[in-house]
Amino acid sequence: MTERVIIVGSGPAGLTAAIYAARAGLEPLMIEGMEAGGQLMLTTDVENFPGFPDGIMGPEMMGLFRKQAERFGTRIVRSDVSKVDLSERPFKVWVGDELHEAEAVIVSTGASARWLGVPGEENLRGHGVSACATCDGFFFRDREIVVVGGGDSALEEALFLTRFASKVTLIHRRDEFRASKIMAERALAHDKIEVRWNSVVAEVLGDDAVTGVLLRNVETDETEELAAEGVFIAIGHTPNTAIFDGQLALNDKGYLETYENTSTSITGVFGAGDVVDFTYRQAITAAGMGCQAALDAERWLESQE
Ligand code: NAP
Repeated sequence: MTERVIIVGSGPAGLTAAIYAARAGLEPLMIEGMEAGGQLMLTTDVENFPGFPDGIMGPEMMGLFRKQAERFGTRIVRSDVSKVDLSERPFKVWVGDELHEAEAVIVSTGASARWLGVPGEENLRGHGVSACATCDGFFFRDREIVVVGGGDSALEEALFLTRFASKVTLIHRRDEFRASKIMAERALAHDKIEVRWNSVVAEVLGDDAVTGVLLRNVETDETEELAAEGVFIAIGHTPNTAIFDGQLALNDKGYLETYENTSTSITGVFGAGDVVDFTYRQAITAAGMGCQAALDAERWLESQE
């Protein structure tokens, strides 16, 4: 059976595309990925998505998106796509050995957390090193922790972690935050948060569990050990485009290129959300692009009939 449309990825972009495609009668098949729900599953309070004046927890919001997509007949496969062949129609999408074919594909695979790549980071992941304050913050009650990064994510994580930690040290490589003014003001005003400017983590210390970090001041090159039991990395994201490399045009940062509206370099394949957008990267903009991609796919399918 050839599907009308396959949606790859299940963050706000993919699930909004699914709601629109399903309501248009396209009976979309969504391959949601092992990180189903996308980055909002790693967030706490979402305060800026219209319609939730009291805020909503990220995972709860994605649960509602999913429920709404399923209500209109979206079928959801809980797996990663292993391979695609977009060289001819119908497009081919594999989940393991299982082949799915579709007349149109919407790519909404999002972006994933970046790591520092310093000694100690990888082998202490899950033993004090984390990229998800929501998932792991609870384990650091009354402990001292560090958060690396100077963007909104780092500050949001730092503020969230003050609920548990006795002290949060924010480590930023420059002398000013990239984050929005409101987040910066909140973080700087918090009595549990201390900022170490112009500093990078050169190594995560500890054998079986994190005991601290080796800090290097980028101006003086001086190093210093800072005791901590948790290290939260919040330094941005990498687009999840590896399976499309060599088939769809990507920009120099690896994000999916789109041309007219949400069309990619292959007619019939559309892109939406953080896999395309490295500028706004908000749930609301991703959802908006998901809607556009579904409408574009629907119109394109109609034009083929
Ligand atoms: P980001 O804005 O790209 O910030 C990444 C931060 O990590 C920057 O401060 C960067 O330093 C630092 N960094 C990058 N690589 C590093 C390295 N190797 N070593 C040390 N530091 C490194 O990413 P983000 O904070 O994840 O935010 C992404 C987008 O989501 C933004 O548009 C943001 O506004 C949005 N967002 C919004 C909210 C909200 O509204 N509540 C919450 C979270 C995220 P430099 O500053 O020196 O480049």
